[in-house]
Amino acid sequence: MPIEDIIRKDVVLKPLTTMKTGGPAAYFAEPSCEGEIIELIKFAEDKNLEVFILGNGSNVIADDAGFDGLIIKLGSNMSAIETEDDPQDNEYGFITAQAGCLLSKFGNTAAAAGYEGAEFSCGIPGSVGGAVFMNAGAYGRDISDIAVEVRYIEDGEVKDMQVSKEDFGYRTSFFTHNGRIVTRLRARLKKGDREQIDALVKELRDKRSASQPLTVPSCGSTFKRPEGYFAGKLIQDSGLKGFSLDDSGAEVSPKHAGFVVNNGGTAGSEDIKRLIKHIQDKVYEDSGVRLECEVRFLGGSKK
Ligand SMILES: Cc1cc2nc3c(=O)[nH]c(=O)nc-3n(C[C@H](O)[C@H](O)[C@H](O)COP(=O)(O)OP(=O)(O)OC[C@H]3O[C@@H](n4cnc5c(N)ncnc54)[C@H](O)[C@@H]3O)c2cc1C
Repeated sequence: MPIEDIIRKDVVLKPLTTMKTGGPAAYFAEPSCEGEIIELIKFAEDKNLEVFILGNGSNVIADDAGFDGLIIKLGSNMSAIETEDDPQDNEYGFITAQAGCLLSKFGNTAAAAGYEGAEFSCGIPGSVGGAVFMNAGAYGRDISDIAVEVRYIEDGEVKDMQVSKEDFGYRTSFFTHNGRIVTRLRARLKKGDREQIDALVKELRDKRSASQPLTVPSCGSTFKRPEGYFAGKLIQDSGLKGFSLDDSGAEVSPKHAGFVVNNGGTAGSEDIKRLIKHIQDKVYEDSGVRLECEVRFLGGSKK
């Protein structure tokens, strides 16, 4: 099948991001294997199009004007997951998931297999690929604690890399650079007590829903944690908890000052970006700390 057959035109991004912003992408495809990704990249190169890899859209603010390039979405077409015991050591097991698998499914599958250590991932609304790219984490653990091998595409080639903690940093990884596209994660986890694993999953989920605005569109924490500080606390100390510049819907969550939310889903990316800039300026003025965005920008100006 020619690769053009899986490419759609003018696909609106708003429903594909958790912040619920974004105009149309000129070209959009959801590949089902590495070979198709490589063909899509070639298609974009031939047409001189910029490429953006989209996972579950839970950490991107898509521009109101859309994206004048090709979006390659790694989603349900590449979401296989399997578990197997470690043949070398029966106290451990492996869980292998394609990039489009949801992280919640990854964490829940590990729990159901009786593997501990992935409980932190159950409440993060990203894909496995996005989580490897960002080194997603919560409650003191992140992807670097469990990843042993990552399959990725670079320069038109599929590569398997044995990874260790050194390949990851705070919300960044080896894969954040050079246009690398993550297609699969293999993690090694210790076998544990099923009841304790389930209890920890529940405890973390309860903690999350008590402190975070999970029913309002957002990208989670908008800013990276500045060294020695908490972004939410700095924003709160600047009197911005619950703050909005206007009635667009863009506001600092009244529940968690670290979250910029799109209340009602009515704000556009420009409204959100304006609010982000205001927060950065005010916090800098008050504390001398310059907050850096954890969220990524898709299309438009990279503010
Ligand atoms: C309510 C809420 C709570 C959240 N809580 C947390 C949390 O506790 N911890 C945390 O770390 N994050 C959290 N996040 C942020 C987000 O879920 C993570 O950053 C997640 O890892 C993003 O994955 P994604 O698939 O949605 O990536 P996307 O948002 O689709 O993309 C994010 C970036 O990753 C790149 N990317 C995506 N997939 C791939 C791939 N396969 N290969 C190469 N690049 C890729 C994109 O190009 C983009 O630059 C939260 C978000 C929300 C909305």
